[in-house]
Amino acid sequence: PEVAPPRTIRELPDELISQIAAGEVVERPASVVRELVDNALDAGARHIQVKLMAGGVRAIVVEDDGCGIPVAQLPLALKRHATSKIASLSDLESVATMGFRGEALAAIASVSEMAIASRTASDAHANRLDARSGELQPAARARGTSVEVRELFFATPARRKFLKTDATELAHCVEAVRRHALARPDVGFAIWHEGKLVDQWRPATPEQRIADVLGEDFIADSRAFSHSAGPLALTGRAGLPEAARSRADQQYVWVNGRYVRDKLIAHAIRSAYEDVLHGQRQPSYVLFIEIAPELVDVNVHPTKIEVRFRDGRAIHQSVRRAFIDALAASRSAEAEGVDS
Ligand code: ADP
Ligand code: MG
Repeated sequence: PEVAPPRTIRELPDELISQIAAGEVVERPASVVRELVDNALDAGARHIQVKLMAGGVRAIVVEDDGCGIPVAQLPLALKRHATSKIASLSDLESVATMGFRGEALAAIASVSEMAIASRTASDAHANRLDARSGELQPAARARGTSVEVRELFFATPARRKFLKTDATELAHCVEAVRRHALARPDVGFAIWHEGKLVDQWRPATPEQRIADVLGEDFIADSRAFSHSAGPLALTGRAGLPEAARSRADQQYVWVNGRYVRDKLIAHAIRSAYEDVLHGQRQPSYVLFIEIAPELVDVNVHPTKIEVRFRDGRAIHQSVRRAFIDALAASRSAEAEGVDS
């Protein structure tokens, strides 16, 4: 049989490269919200506003009061692989910021209509850059940055078709902000949809923030723990077995402030509940893991939702221990009739 002749190899245009890369990072409006809030936190913001239209599909605007972007660097912020957060491999190995890949803004800009307005402390006024036209104009705002993302996936109908109803997309966006809000009680957050306030969390203590986001019931039905082992510190709250749920919708884990999903950690927690939780019942918990950055690789997944630990066994043991102790303490407190 005849073999077809080889096809020509071409270098892809930059825009198409970004659109392909965007597929990995931008799945839905909530992915955009997450990336933009990450950036605001990296910029040292104390207050972050997230404003959405039509579940984020029509518009996502994230405003912060962080350090801003110098006007000369605004176009660079939109370029792929351009970042202010790392400069070398050794920086990558000890990265302490949420971002470092320099991809998010470029990726989002390639699948939406984006504009950034920003002002630094030394600027006389803000400047607004329109990503598509490249037009730069003076704008009005206080120090900080506003990123506007409109008509997500307007040019990639295949992607747009996968979006769910506005209500579902909104719920995912709100969940993305809740994850940030739980990890950063020191920062104020507000979420708006169609001009109406959906949720608002003022700066608070960690415990108060958990109560504000997850509810007073969650506090009443869980026990705090704090456990440290060498370069590892674990804090959080373990839900009581009797408050377990039918769905795994209150299980939150962060590593160095970054929300993650990790099988090893989930397994360690599950095993701590082994004797007290039966069937498909799901424990509620929040777990904050702080670990020396050198001991965890955050560059294993484009969205950084997965991480790899240098010493997985030690993590597993410590997490399991922290939860077992919290649950045991709650049982002995109960036996003595005191409330912890
Ligand atoms: P990364 O966060 O990985 O560096 P991004 O594409 O998300 O990549 O952002 C590119 C750069 O733009 C950042 O490194 C930062 O310098 C700047 N930037 C983005 N968002 C903000 C913001 N809200 N405030 C200040 N600077 C920002
Ligand atoms: Mg970023």
